[in-house]
Amino acid sequence: MGETKRQSRQGRGGNILLILALVLMLVVVVSGIYILTHVGKTVKEYKKQSAALSKVEAQLEEEQAKRDKQIEEKAQMELDDGAIVEIREEVFTKAAQLEKDIKAGKNKSKICYLTFDDGPYYRGKTILKILDKYDVKATFFLTTANGDRLPDKAELSAASMYPEYLRYGHTIGNHTYSHDYGEGGIYKSANAFMKDMKKQENFTIKATGGYDPKIVRFPGGRATAGKKLEDIEAELRKGGYSWADWTVDSSDSWGKGKTSPDIIMEQVKDAAKDQDVMVILCHEWSKDTQKALPEMIEYLQGEGYIFLPLFPESSTVMK
Ligand SMILES: [Zn+2]
Repeated sequence: MGETKRQSRQGRGGNILLILALVLMLVVVVSGIYILTHVGKTVKEYKKQSAALSKVEAQLEEEQAKRDKQIEEKAQMELDDGAIVEIREEVFTKAAQLEKDIKAGKNKSKICYLTFDDGPYYRGKTILKILDKYDVKATFFLTTANGDRLPDKAELSAASMYPEYLRYGHTIGNHTYSHDYGEGGIYKSANAFMKDMKKQENFTIKATGGYDPKIVRFPGGRATAGKKLEDIEAELRKGGYSWADWTVDSSDSWGKGKTSPDIIMEQVKDAAKDQDVMVILCHEWSKDTQKALPEMIEYLQGEGYIFLPLFPESSTVMK
């Protein structure tokens, strides 16, 4: 009896071990399948992500290569000053002919000369960016009336802005050094005017490393010169200078309540009705002008205008 009991106890113990072993195997197999499928999935995910990453990396590399090429081209252009002068002369010769053809009714094109007075301002950088976006060239009539610092960014010198205008291919004009058109100011005599104007010319040459602004804009416009206008113009002519007023006043200097981006647009649209060649007066300090500028450019481009920087040979420039 004792023997049998022991044997059956042993048999039962063997069964339990067998069951435990089977359960253990089952657990191993099930978890094995679980791990394998999940790890497999994860690996697939990783592979997908890494493929996407490589694509992004390739795009970034491509962009960087493009940027490097642009920088290289720009540097090459800056190095080759002579080539720039040549291209400018070629463009201006063609533009002068185009003006003549437009006036004679032989060409249906239209030209707009955008002009910005009273700079440099740090704000001018935003204007430059907008112009660059539309690939538009303009003219900046600069003065040193605001002193040797930028009025809206005192840590920067006024001179630091000068090369910016040229880098984008715009014309820098001379808006006199003091901009002082009050009594006893630049319109006191032709001599006073020429002295002040030449001071600004020298400032520009120094700030740009050699660019000589040959087009003058009278502060307040020619009419402000009053009785001395003829004398001043004679002196300018003698010195080989030219000067330009405007045919469209954007209204941006008319003061609070009298101007706004909408009023500026009205002025421009009104002028576009009958001016095939126009010179628009704007001011570099005007936030209204800055706001209106993209719409102004898009509207005029839609009307068939091309934008050019002023040049002495233009019919809109007096000499
Ligand atoms: Zn001015």
